[in-house]
Amino acid sequence: MPKAIGVDLGGTKTTFVLIDEYGNVLKRKKYKTPKEKEKILEMLVKGVKEIKNKEKVVGIGFGLAGFIDSNTGVMHFSPNVPAINNTNFRRFLKKHFKERIVFENDANCFAIAEHIIGYKGKYKNVVAITLGTGIGSGLIIEGKLAKGRGHAAELGHMIIDHSSAKVCDCGNIGCFEELADGKALLRRAKKLGLKVKNNEELAKLAERGNKKALQAIKDTASYLAVGLANIINIFDPEAIIVGGGLANIDILLKEAKKELRKYTLVRRSTPILKAKLGDYGPAIGAAMLAFKEFVWMKKQPKIAVDIIIEYYKRRVFEGIILIKRKFKPKGWALPGGLVEYGETLEKAAKREALEETGLKIRNIRQFKAYSDPKRDERGHSISIVFIAKASGNIKPGSDALYARVFRPENLPKKLCFDHKKIIDDWLKEKLRER
Ligand SMILES: [Zn+2]
Repeated sequence: MPKAIGVDLGGTKTTFVLIDEYGNVLKRKKYKTPKEKEKILEMLVKGVKEIKNKEKVVGIGFGLAGFIDSNTGVMHFSPNVPAINNTNFRRFLKKHFKERIVFENDANCFAIAEHIIGYKGKYKNVVAITLGTGIGSGLIIEGKLAKGRGHAAELGHMIIDHSSAKVCDCGNIGCFEELADGKALLRRAKKLGLKVKNNEELAKLAERGNKKALQAIKDTASYLAVGLANIINIFDPEAIIVGGGLANIDILLKEAKKELRKYTLVRRSTPILKAKLGDYGPAIGAAMLAFKEFVWMKKQPKIAVDIIIEYYKRRVFEGIILIKRKFKPKGWALPGGLVEYGETLEKAAKREALEETGLKIRNIRQFKAYSDPKRDERGHSISIVFIAKASGNIKPGSDALYARVFRPENLPKKLCFDHKKIIDDWLKEKLRER
């Protein structure tokens, strides 16, 4: 079974996975993310090499925290890992790996993983958010990752309190993440006089009934509720999937769910679900993208039919019919076109002949197939050529500007595609038959 590698580069840790097509994790690895750019790049190479070992993989997916251009592989801006700003990851990684590489924002990878693997495609319209140090988000609309012009969806940076004094890492004030992420929760706890090192300790205190801990969580939940209600009002998703460290604090989610009903416009509840894949989710999503890009959506040649119509007038052979193409590449060509889904080759040949020449063809027989990848400048197509007979009124239509009869010795000098070769082959066969 084919395998792919996924990498998730985050602010504090970087994870690597080797997965199969069903998202099963075959190997995993976790590193602390170094601070300097050179060390980060070194770690990426080392991590991928270790996880790959001698495996053959279809590709490598990189989920990176920040505004990554998935076409070029350039990181424009990473609020959480500033060392990688303006890094051209594609150029660097190409030197170390011959495998094909795909890039995506880490939160988008998280959304893909939870959508496809975690929740097995159950929700076609779903918003996935990570509540940790910062709030990341990915948007699945009609089963597809929605990215706008490339950088959607940064729900963590929607401004939910523009009068706030809190400046976000992005430079704005009152962002959702600045008011409802892990840092915000810890800040509130400390302000209330609690001496806790992290949010796990805080959650434990709250479970034991500590009033201050509960207060810090409730205050954070009220901002979380505003953000979630905005998401529901804008997207009306079938569910919101929540991951990251804060998703494990049950009281926080419970309070937020209760509170957000005050703000939602449609009076029905939207399930707020916990992410299923844990720490390795985004890396799994990155690897799934490699499958999507390099295996599932792999390009295949198109199938076409072309028809050599031997035209007869009062039972006398007059020549073959060529059409003048209306669209690019313009010029003379044999009648023909793409086979439609659910259609036999013969049916396609009859349909195309009728559409382009107005003729009902008879005595139809298969000639040869032509498959040179370069035969069609618009992309690789395979043409199965038919020979048929016809007579009657010629009426050009569909892709044909004109249709007329050419005697074999009087063909136009130039023909589109490889149609010259096709006609030559047909002529050779005709000569042999005599
Ligand atoms: Zn922000």
